[in-house]
Amino acid sequence: LAKKQGGNKMKFYSTEMNEQVLYQLELESYLRRALDKDEFYLCYQPLIDLKTGGIFGSEALIRWNHPKLGLVSPGEFIPLAEETGLIHDIGIWVLKQACLQNKKWHDMGYDHLTISVNVSANQFQQISFINEVKEALNESGLAPQHLTLELTEGVMLRNISHSIVVMQELQKLGVKVSIDDFGTGYSSLSYLKDLPINTLKIDQSFINNLKVNTSDIAIVKAIITMGHGLSMKVVAEGVETCEQISLLKELQCHYAQGFYIDRPLISEDFTNGLAARKVN
Ligand code: C2E
Ligand code: MG
Ligand code: MG
Ligand code: MG
Repeated sequence: LAKKQGGNKMKFYSTEMNEQVLYQLELESYLRRALDKDEFYLCYQPLIDLKTGGIFGSEALIRWNHPKLGLVSPGEFIPLAEETGLIHDIGIWVLKQACLQNKKWHDMGYDHLTISVNVSANQFQQISFINEVKEALNESGLAPQHLTLELTEGVMLRNISHSIVVMQELQKLGVKVSIDDFGTGYSSLSYLKDLPINTLKIDQSFINNLKVNTSDIAIVKAIITMGHGLSMKVVAEGVETCEQISLLKELQCHYAQGFYIDRPLISEDFTNGLAARKVN
């Protein structure tokens, strides 16, 4: 704080930049209290099985409702939570909450549903991470094979030797691993054969504009073929049209997620959807 306020750098900031800095500081102080004040909740976006059309599971997506700021998007506060280390406690909360909710659905009879949880780099690199996963499973009673952790390439490759150990531990536990935003990283593909990965989640930038005769379709097709070859499941995220669903089916993509199917829903709405929709 002192560094930001003092020094001679400040005078070069325009008023707008000043406001931006102040807003960030305000956001940070609010974020520090958000967990204690119960301002977070999770939304659940359905994943469907493209073969049957049934709901296969959901992705848990965090929401922050601040009394003064209203809804703040995760794209805005997750990076801040990472910078400040607050992601650690938030991450534990998300894991527990998501496992508890999925167990509730199991207890209601929807006992095939999986839940996907996003894991950020700082969270994944903590030595306590495996224990936190175990604790969330134990406390909720959810079977490990119904939990999937979504990691981006950046998260995994930040410290590859550490990642291998953690991912092998997860595999031993029976927890699944999905590569989120697949296709947007800058690394080579060689890590795919060294790491225990269950699912490739094709980034929405390839799916949003997916149409016949586009370069996107060539890329999507290649990823799906590679997934099949590596015995991995493939999820398409960001599906927004009926045409995209048909194309993905044709390409034999396993699962899909996106606004065309459903938006991220509060748990009550997701439960109602389970009752209304065909469940696989
Ligand atoms: P992500 O994991 O790639 O999640 C997918 C994002 O795409 C979500 O945004 C979702 O609402 C949005 N989305 C879903 N379907 C569509 C669609 O058809 N079209 C478009 N345009 N967008 C769609 P959201 O909820 O704002 O989350 C943004 C990112 O924030 C996530 O990207 C993830 O990286 C991060 N995030 C969200 N929740 C958590 C969390 O609990 N922990 C951590 N560490 N990160 C999280
Ligand atoms: Mg995700
Ligand atoms: Mg993604
Ligand atoms: Mg993303």
